[in-house]
Amino acid sequence: MTPDDSAAQSPDECREFGFETKQLHAGHGLDREVRARAVPIYQSTSFQYEDFAHAQALGSLEELGFSYSRTGNPTCAVLERRIAALEGGTAALAVGSGSAATAFAVLNLTHAGDEIVAASTLYGGSFTLFQHTLPKYGVHTRLVDPADLGAYAAAITERTKAVFVETIGNPDINVVDLRAIAELAHANGLPLIVDNTFATPYLCRPIEHGANVVVHSATKFIGGHGTSIGGLIVDGGNFDWTSGRFPDFTTPDRTNGGMIHAQRWADQPEVGNFAFVMKARLHYQRDIGAALSPFNAFLFLQGLETLSLRMERQTANAQAVAEFLAGHPQVAWVAYPGLPSSPYHELARTYLPKGAGAILGFGVRGGQAQAQRLIDALQVFSFLANVGDSKSLVAHPATVTHGPLDEDERQLAGVLPEQIRLSVGTESLDDLLWDLEQALAASVS
Ligand SMILES: *Cc1c(COP(=O)(O)O)cnc(C)c1O
Repeated sequence: MTPDDSAAQSPDECREFGFETKQLHAGHGLDREVRARAVPIYQSTSFQYEDFAHAQALGSLEELGFSYSRTGNPTCAVLERRIAALEGGTAALAVGSGSAATAFAVLNLTHAGDEIVAASTLYGGSFTLFQHTLPKYGVHTRLVDPADLGAYAAAITERTKAVFVETIGNPDINVVDLRAIAELAHANGLPLIVDNTFATPYLCRPIEHGANVVVHSATKFIGGHGTSIGGLIVDGGNFDWTSGRFPDFTTPDRTNGGMIHAQRWADQPEVGNFAFVMKARLHYQRDIGAALSPFNAFLFLQGLETLSLRMERQTANAQAVAEFLAGHPQVAWVAYPGLPSSPYHELARTYLPKGAGAILGFGVRGGQAQAQRLIDALQVFSFLANVGDSKSLVAHPATVTHGPLDEDERQLAGVLPEQIRLSVGTESLDDLLWDLEQALAASVS
């Protein structure tokens, strides 16, 4: 088990380093045997016990260390410590995809018969998880208008175990009022889980605004180069699991020697409480096993090293692209919280002061037919189902990310037929504007 090896916090534990320093250094100490500067890829399924007593100590969790890479791997552990440092959490769990991160975060709190409350503007895969897959196991989600605080309050029942939102919603590019939603959740004894994929910890750190758990699709901006699928769960360490509402945290865990998670992982030296990710690791990573490969963890660490630089550049490019599109006669509307005309502009100023992110949506006047012609005419933007690459990407949410939903569900999620979503990359801005201009011209039939 590998929550945190505080001794490996580098370079100096006493100083609070800046984000750009942490993205290069946090969670990686000097390996005195080999002295490798880069984080090595520990491509090993298992780690040899020193002796029988060592095996017993690891097995009983008296000592934390590596046994088998499904539940802990040294390369993945550096990624876990680094993202925890960047998000301001206590510890993290690396998993095989963002979808696994979301599923494990919800499963970690719920039993059959329980509910969660979630904003309706969700990533398509989270929408189908909450609306179709989890209900088969008795876990139900009440979807609410992300901007209506009263709707969250009205949807909370005795069975509710968490509130779930995305910092920047998908596909509407809406910004939620994190602090108000966190206060509302806490007033009802509930943790707030935030999918921070679109913002990244460089633009927004939800834990600073009251979130208790942060999930990521590392596939997107954290990797940043479109090479690897992965996910992360970050523990805020700031929620009291002992209210009685979360019995898995407060009753003896038969599958882990009778340990009580809320006690065992509280007040860890130099770190604090990481009961949430330890329980997720000890139950869901152990039993369902969406393990991240060490090689992918290495690629995510490479990505994190330049996260701030890419986000600055991509956000600046996206702002310019949004302004260009807003002034174009073929464009009916632009959804980008960095535009003063956006209903989310004020929230973006509060929660995304460094820029409103790299993703924007727009609608063309000629409906889906024109959207199709435009997408086919683009030359620099790649048409595919991803966001967050350094390369500029284009998607048609109604066909791609939200294709599996039915018509009513697409409406609830805010997906429109004429809607085009851009994930703006780091290319020369002039080339991006040229590409959009020529494709818009070609799209007019
Ligand atoms: C892509 C994405 C996910 C799912 O992540 P995968 O790594 O594709 O499984 C979850 N949430 C958001 C906001 C995403 O963009």
